[in-house]
Amino acid sequence: MRILVKGAGVAGLTVAHELVRRGAEITISDPGRNFSRAASWLAGGMLAPWCERESADEAVLERGRDSADRWDAILPGRVLRNGTLVVAPNRDQNELKRFASRTTGYRWIEEREIATLEPSLAGRFRHALLFPQEAHLNPREVLQLLKNDLLAKGANFIEGLADDGDFTEIVDCTGAARVGESRELRGVRGEMLYLQTQEVALSRPVRLLHPRFPVYIVPRGEGLFMVGATMIETDSDGPITARSLMELLNAAYALHPAFADAAIVETGAGIRPAFPDNLPRVTRQGKTILINGFYRHGFLLAPAMAAEAADLIFSGHDNDRNRQCA
Ligand SMILES: Cc1cc2nc3c(=O)[nH]c(=O)nc-3n(C[C@H](O)[C@H](O)[C@H](O)COP(=O)(O)OP(=O)(O)OC[C@H]3O[C@@H](n4cnc5c(N)ncnc54)[C@H](O)[C@@H]3O)c2cc1C
Repeated sequence: MRILVKGAGVAGLTVAHELVRRGAEITISDPGRNFSRAASWLAGGMLAPWCERESADEAVLERGRDSADRWDAILPGRVLRNGTLVVAPNRDQNELKRFASRTTGYRWIEEREIATLEPSLAGRFRHALLFPQEAHLNPREVLQLLKNDLLAKGANFIEGLADDGDFTEIVDCTGAARVGESRELRGVRGEMLYLQTQEVALSRPVRLLHPRFPVYIVPRGEGLFMVGATMIETDSDGPITARSLMELLNAAYALHPAFADAAIVETGAGIRPAFPDNLPRVTRQGKTILINGFYRHGFLLAPAMAAEAADLIFSGHDNDRNRQCA
């Protein structure tokens, strides 16, 4: 079976990986160089279905709870299983209670335990929620490793567009590029930045509850921190706005004042593709399988959706074979 996967974001690479594992011959096309057009490149990489349940459907928790195990099977040793810490400024303790009332899988911890888990946060927050089952990974490392793994297994990469006619099956993983083509798909802009400082050390993603959008800081090691992310209902890409930059920096400063002296090493804005229910879908249109609508959950849900898409592709062929045999 010769399959073309369009799009080398997390959706395209995970489905390609699953299809190669099941014996298909895969070509992956993407006009973006080095993931430059992929929202996946800008992601936090949090595998945080219990926290996400605060605003997401139960299906996100159901499909995402074994995400860390799935990633471990794809790329052993890349998942960090240190949990998530959720804090709020002391004056906003009601925010923390509200978050707790909408989620499960956490325990309340107090100042002493916060200091043990994250010494940099000692004395800064009286209470926090610890979600011990959550995990995270480094999206940039994982995308590059997945690509290398696929190349080593014989997959072909085209930096550009491929001719559909050369393939028996197409898997469309073009993300936000389909906004406008698919009536139901919309874009939700997410802005982020990278800060660098040796004055703060964190071992796990920390979410700071914020009245407008949940701000999180994900440690990447060696003093590098990803700060994200805005949630703006638009598919316009373009650089981060001054307002968003100020809000993200304010949140980082509220978490730890040493972030005021950090270097801003990168800013970016990506478009999250989303359906009205904010859940991803795998659908078939003729010989094309579409996987899209990952919204805030591309890394969380892509491995599960890749398996679902591969089942759809192979069951289609089993049915064809069965029809031929009948
Ligand atoms: C700031 C930010 C933070 C986020 N944090 C998290 C997080 O912590 N955890 C999480 O699970 N999710 C997170 N997300 C969401 C996640 O990044 C997205 O859900 C995910 O990247 C969507 O992946 P995708 O592969 O569908 O799309 P993309 O990564 O956008 O990839 C689509 C690819 O298709 C290519 N393409 C376009 N047109 C064509 C064509 N005609 N032919 C071939 N290729 C084409 C593009 O060049 C692109 O490379 C975050 C998103 C943002 C923006």
